[in-house]
Amino acid sequence: MSSQGVLRPGHVIIRVLDIQEAREYYVNVLGLIETDQDADGKVYLKAWDEHDHHSVVLQEADVPGLEVMAFKVTDDATLKNLTEKIENFGIKTEIFASNTHLATGERVRFTAPTGHVFELYAYKELVGNGMPVVNPGVKAPNLKGIHPNNFDHCALIGDDVDGSYRLFVDVLGFQLTERVMAGENMIAAFLSCSNKPHDVAFIHAPVKGKLHHVSFAVDSWAHVLNAADKIAESEVPHEIGPTRHGITRGETIYFFDPSGNRNEIFSGGYLWYPDRPALTWTADELPKALFFHERKLSETFLSVMT
Ligand code: FE
Repeated sequence: MSSQGVLRPGHVIIRVLDIQEAREYYVNVLGLIETDQDADGKVYLKAWDEHDHHSVVLQEADVPGLEVMAFKVTDDATLKNLTEKIENFGIKTEIFASNTHLATGERVRFTAPTGHVFELYAYKELVGNGMPVVNPGVKAPNLKGIHPNNFDHCALIGDDVDGSYRLFVDVLGFQLTERVMAGENMIAAFLSCSNKPHDVAFIHAPVKGKLHHVSFAVDSWAHVLNAADKIAESEVPHEIGPTRHGITRGETIYFFDPSGNRNEIFSGGYLWYPDRPALTWTADELPKALFFHERKLSETFLSVMT
């Protein structure tokens, strides 16, 4: 967890254009498990190895993109403490009572300088990962599609990368693991609250609150390859990969959900510890930083966002 008690990415609310089409894709192709639906028609899903009630919520809307990214914190005292710290940093917070979001405790909402809406919460109902906690086995039965283990991270695009960086590092206790510098300007910041090389990333563009991608973790390079097979078989719009990032060293493939939201399947990357030095890439090395094998930029990768 972060030095201020942020445990991990908890869930993401994704705006989709057609809820039935999105549900079909997220359940049967991506292979998430549907756990609930609320009175507004939002669909709640989890990756198989997560124990909490949900990590992805699909919300029908006129435009695709990110509605909310939420982080789980250790306990109620941490939630209260972080709320004060965010206010003291100069960002307004809004508190939502327990169960105003399905199966979830009290939530604190705020908007980061890049225009993204975040929430913190300390409690979510446990539904388990499909295996017992005593003598559990290694994989839940009857998984569909790509079936990643976990929701891993989001990459988000906005204009004030430095502002969101300061909020996440100075207030929420995240650490910078890697950055891309164009001269004196930080044009991308990769931030961790865990042992992962990133839990959230901010990328600069002159826009507010845009989504670059939502990423899901698998065990191995072989599972990234399996994901590529499933993407091709299912005629899912494919963008790049399987390949490897320079940044994080992760193995990756990018593709799009039916609403045009970019998804990633991600594997590997190094273990992050707080005493490890942050890495810097210079903008002239950006092609290698993004796609280490190809060493060239994908035009859509830098321009398509939701
Ligand atoms: Fe990613």
